[in-house]
Amino acid sequence: MQTQLFEQGLKLVIEALRSVEEQWDLRADIELLRRIEQLRVPSQSHFSNPGAENTPVISEPIPEVERETSHRRSAIDSKRWENLRLTIEACTKCPHLAASRHSVVFGVGNPAADLMFIGEAPGVDEDMQGEPFVGRAGELLTKIIQTMGFRRSDVFIANVLKCRPDMPAGAPGNRQPTPQEMETCLPYLQQQIEFIQPKAMVALGGVAMRGLFGKTEPMKQMRGRWYTFGTIPVMATYHPSYLLRNQAISEKRRVWEDMLQVLERLGLPISEKQRNYFMTR
Ligand code: URA
Repeated sequence: MQTQLFEQGLKLVIEALRSVEEQWDLRADIELLRRIEQLRVPSQSHFSNPGAENTPVISEPIPEVERETSHRRSAIDSKRWENLRLTIEACTKCPHLAASRHSVVFGVGNPAADLMFIGEAPGVDEDMQGEPFVGRAGELLTKIIQTMGFRRSDVFIANVLKCRPDMPAGAPGNRQPTPQEMETCLPYLQQQIEFIQPKAMVALGGVAMRGLFGKTEPMKQMRGRWYTFGTIPVMATYHPSYLLRNQAISEKRRVWEDMLQVLERLGLPISEKQRNYFMTR
């Protein structure tokens, strides 16, 4: 009789908790619920061993509960991330850019990355493809990322400005974003950074530094140094297009030295080959 009452009470608690399952802040209760359920019905546990009746069933189910919780958490996170993407893609805060753009360039890569690269704004190639750094500068950035030991998809690449700065009809090339355009767009980048919570970021070039920090010193002075955006350390380095314009090996070496600092900051091992990369060239 007592067992029956206890079972009924337990059932009510379970029902009540189930009804709030969707609420994010109650996920600890839901975890508890699942543990109770698994305790109650040992034969339904994926982890129970039918041949060992006396084995305490609590010893194994916990990892299963945690996996389910993390799945739900990532489902909620990906919804938040997709909502942010939809918001950014629908933006018309700069009507002149919204009118001229082919696409909004949200960013690309791993939304849980330890490392983010921040450029200035999409150019014509990025605008056409909807992805940052896909032109010649992008190819070079990809090489830098790979030489650091990452795939492009391991890091997250974004720009301060999400739309290509408009150009007069028929004019070739790209223009730099204005301070006003960057200021308008910066909250989106901030939200991306808050979501990703990278361990470090790399600001590519003077325009990105201006957009992030309002800094206008020459890159010569800023590169190779750490800055802080919110709580995130940011390494300033030259923009890959600067390296395409200025082919001097000394400048490539400087960028590489900056990237070695980033790897150190991330606590990643650096091979001899990586350390000596530009010594042998
Ligand atoms: N330069 C940038 O700063 N960003 C891009 O996406 C491409 C080129």
